[in-house]
Amino acid sequence: MKRIARALLLLLAALLLLPSCKNAKKRTATLFCMDTVMDLTIYGSADALAEAEETLRATEKALSVTDAASEISALNQNGGGEVSPAVAALLSEVLSLCGRTGGALDPTVYPIVRAWGFTTGEHRVPAEEELAALLPSVGYAGVTVDGTRVTLLAGAQIDLGSVGKGYAADVLTAQLRAAGVTRALLNLGGNVQAIGTRPDGNPWRVAIKDPNGDGYAATVAVTDRAVVTSGGYERCFERDGIVYHHIIDPATGKPAQTGIASVTVIAKSGLLADALSTALFVMGLDRATAHWRSERDFEAIIILQNGELYLTEGLEPILTVDPAYAGKATVIRA
Ligand code: ADP
Ligand code: MG
Repeated sequence: MKRIARALLLLLAALLLLPSCKNAKKRTATLFCMDTVMDLTIYGSADALAEAEETLRATEKALSVTDAASEISALNQNGGGEVSPAVAALLSEVLSLCGRTGGALDPTVYPIVRAWGFTTGEHRVPAEEELAALLPSVGYAGVTVDGTRVTLLAGAQIDLGSVGKGYAADVLTAQLRAAGVTRALLNLGGNVQAIGTRPDGNPWRVAIKDPNGDGYAATVAVTDRAVVTSGGYERCFERDGIVYHHIIDPATGKPAQTGIASVTVIAKSGLLADALSTALFVMGLDRATAHWRSERDFEAIIILQNGELYLTEGLEPILTVDPAYAGKATVIRA
């Protein structure tokens, strides 16, 4: 009798486990969204993966500056207006990140990004007078969010390209977790979000591109973290031997020239990591180091154009530096 009871119990346990095993199947999707190729790997249901894709499309639709029907485009066309609660919350958070980074992050650089042709790909070097005429409209302090009502200063326009993918990764993470997904690796065009661990229980390994060559500069082992890289090599063009890239110093209206080739930020929040990867690039190594020392809610890898690599000390146990950078790595300590 005891044996039958035990067999029945085992059978019941197997039946209970069956659906979760089936749902935790590895599923992948590749899509082009937010102007980049995205690779999603989740261990979960087909529905969860399909919902993730839908969310990415919806986020692009709300934020894209190249889609005239987006919420952000409506703000830019009308100098403000009503937005959805989600976009209002995102804007408020971004404005506080602008303040935190001393204006190194500033989505109102959009008219300048456009003047350089980075939104259309029709690259050009704007004249000094043209930049001087555009700079007065740059300044995140000219954006106000009151509930779901947004107001822009005259002439101001915003672009959330510096934070959109990180924000989308946070939204996806919450959504996937709510759908019972406990492991996933979301690669939103260089913005990587690791959820949980790999199926074998080990952390996810994320490779960091070498901005000064082909291949990788380092690999980082992470669990429940965003790993976001901003690189001058990502979107750039050359005129008369000078390389101009898409990360603009809001103070000058020109591509930030700080000697940095790429910044990778590792943080719990994708939004924070994305915002800081752009902002630290603009700040340069010294200000970025000071920012890390004062905030300590992220870790960073900063690779200079001269081949030096700097990592914050929290990364020491989880970062493997490629032999090409071995003698050139410096740990930034608190
Ligand atoms: P990517 O979008 O290639 O991942 P980033 O996250 O660094 O790179 O974002 C760069 C984009 O953000 C630019 O293409 C531009 O639209 C916008 N941008 C450029 N400079 C700034 C800045 N200082 N603050 C906010 N947004 C910026
Ligand atoms: Mg960014």
